[in-house]
Formats: sequence, C-alpha cells, structure tokens
Amino acid sequence: MSEQKLDRRKFFERALMVGAATFGAGAFLSACKSDAKGGGDATKAKKAPAAAAQCTDASLSDAEKGTRKALQYVEKSAQAGKNCGNCKLFQKKDPCNGCTAVPGPIAAEGYCTAWVAKA
Ligand code: SF4
Repeated sequence: MSEQKLDRRKFFERALMVGAATFGAGAFLSACKSDAKGGGDATKAKKAPAAAAQCTDASLSDAEKGTRKALQYVEKSAQAGKNCGNCKLFQKKDPCNGCTAVPGPIAAEGYCTAWVAKA
C-alpha cells in the first residue's frame, strides 16, 4: 500500500514537471516568435531611423518647397519660447508631424514666420 502511494506521488511529481516544462517551452517559443515577426523592442529601435529618413522634404513639389522657404521654415528654432511644438498650427502625426500652413514634414523643434501662439 505504501509503495502504491509512493508511485502515485511520483506520478503527480512527474505530471507537474511535464506541465512546467511545457509552459516554459511555450513561453520561450512565444518570445522567439514575437522577435521574428518584429514585435520585439529591438525592431522598434530599428524602425525609428527609417521613419526619420521618411520625414524629409525631398518628395515635395517646387511650389511646396517655395512655401517652406517663403515662410522661412527651419528645423531648429532660434526664437526663444517659439517652436512648432507650441504653435497653434502644428499637427502631431506619426511618423511625420505636419502643419496647416507649411507643407511637408515639420519638426517639433522647428519654426517659421507663420508661428501662432496656442490659445
Ligand atoms: S506655422 Fe510655422 S511654426 Fe507653426 S507649426 Fe507650422 S511651421 Fe511650425
């Protein structure tokens, strides 16, 4: 009888070990799958430079580039307390910010002569 209890105990111990091993393997494979699909943090870091490269005025027409130039848009404001990020016309978007007055991608740190204080 005691030998039979011992066997039952061993059976449950082994069942627990198999269950734990299965759960662990599942969690491991899930983590690997996420990295392979691009869901990991490492891929997000790779995504940022691509988005930054996409946010250039290279694809704008001559007229759009002319508007940017006419309004003296710069990517780094030299005006104390005035930048695109605190301008009423600024449009926060992903991956490139925009503006209702100036065509093309807009840097939050940028500035142009059409700057309007947020109300
Ligand atoms: S109006 Fe000028 S300062 Fe304002 S968000 Fe547009 S580009 Fe920036």
